[in-house]
Amino acid sequence: MLYYISDYVYLDEMIYLQNIGTFGEIGASCYYLYIDGTGIVIDAGMHPKKDGVESLPDFDKLEDKQVDYLIITHAHHDHIGSVPYLVRRHPHVKILSTVNTVELAILSMVNSSRIMKEYVETRTLTAKQRSSLMPYTAEETTYLGRMIEGLEYEKPYFLSGFKHKSSEDIELVLYDSGHIMGSASLLIKHKGFSFFFTGDINFTPQTILAGAQIPRMSVDVLLSEATLGSTALQGTWKEEEEKLAKALNAVLSNGGSALIPVFAIGKSQELLASIYDMMIDHKIPISPIYVAGMSNKVNRLYDSGRFRGSRVSLSYDLREIPKITLKDSTPLNEIFKGKSIVLATSGMMIEDTKSFRLAEDFLKNSKCGIFSVGYMDPDTPGYRVSNAKTGDEIEFKKGKPPVKVMCSIDKFRFSAHAKREDLVNFVKQVKAKRVILTHGDNDAVNELGALMLEKYPGLSLTVAEEQRIVLRED
Ligand SMILES: [Zn+2]
Repeated sequence: MLYYISDYVYLDEMIYLQNIGTFGEIGASCYYLYIDGTGIVIDAGMHPKKDGVESLPDFDKLEDKQVDYLIITHAHHDHIGSVPYLVRRHPHVKILSTVNTVELAILSMVNSSRIMKEYVETRTLTAKQRSSLMPYTAEETTYLGRMIEGLEYEKPYFLSGFKHKSSEDIELVLYDSGHIMGSASLLIKHKGFSFFFTGDINFTPQTILAGAQIPRMSVDVLLSEATLGSTALQGTWKEEEEKLAKALNAVLSNGGSALIPVFAIGKSQELLASIYDMMIDHKIPISPIYVAGMSNKVNRLYDSGRFRGSRVSLSYDLREIPKITLKDSTPLNEIFKGKSIVLATSGMMIEDTKSFRLAEDFLKNSKCGIFSVGYMDPDTPGYRVSNAKTGDEIEFKKGKPPVKVMCSIDKFRFSAHAKREDLVNFVKQVKAKRVILTHGDNDAVNELGALMLEKYPGLSLTVAEEQRIVLRED
């Protein structure tokens, strides 16, 4: 069947997918799914390492397309940060996510807006560039967040766009993907065709979240994340906890402080609960725990949302864990005056963030330790620090003289992403005949793809690049 460039006029009954976000690396997540006249955008993220227009998905590619729905898989910056820009260009779009994502989304979008505002105010831009990049204010972003319709897990919802050409609606079911609170995998079905998008998914328990809850099913096309595609089998969360307790003990018993860079949403809460458990179980000495401001707000939402989604235990009450909020005005000598643990954002120590600024002082202090607990993009200061050893000289600030590492460095894999073996097995669990890989660097996608083809020789495998991928022709 023939189809032409402009969906508005020519496309009839067909289904296609187009990646309009970043590909070849983890960046701004954004996909366009066209189903028989209805346009669904999945995620509208912001690239964490890029600035200005470069950090946004290529929204120009939506210009000639029908945009009816935006489904947000979860509240991380790289999946939600550019929602205000999408809404500015498509004000009628209906935004859907899980109930637990709604409040987290507001926090995350306010933070993303702050990053963009700082960029706009500190760069030389034309008036046009300035106005096109100026994000919503915190108040406007809050209103925008209130426009998100919160859906329940495992309940069918029916979608039909303004120009939907079929007599049958599109069925959408969200499943708990076990990545952060409120995160969802999507099952989309239409006229016998089924499409499953893992989103950021994690099949194994963390300290608080129990892992993805996906029933056995049969799907035509699986869009799978590939973050850890090039990472060989790693230890369990519990095994990593034992190793971290040992490393913390070494630093704390010497009167030193440990800096743990964490993402504000997810890793902050999981590690806070882990560390508190270690103290209660006498695995590490009772020590002050410092946390950054936004984590506290997220902690409150983790507590109030505990009955939606699957948890290891409902007893974690993050508000009750004794901790000190780290303010910009908190003097460093307060942290360094005795043993302490500092959980600070950003997780990859991106320049000018709190964890980056603190690391500068931790690196110089031989009593201290910097412990990484998650994925570090190779192009970030966090990667350079976490791969160094005491005594090494590293380029900490880009273009600045190297810094000598005096503190201890250790890395742990508390991943909120699926192990690659779990992703390979998941293809079988959903009986997918066709797999599209995304959300991973080139090595991750290549290695995961090779493993899948080795295990399932007849599998049709592609990568979600910028071209349209036709999923069903009629
Ligand atoms: Zn995520």
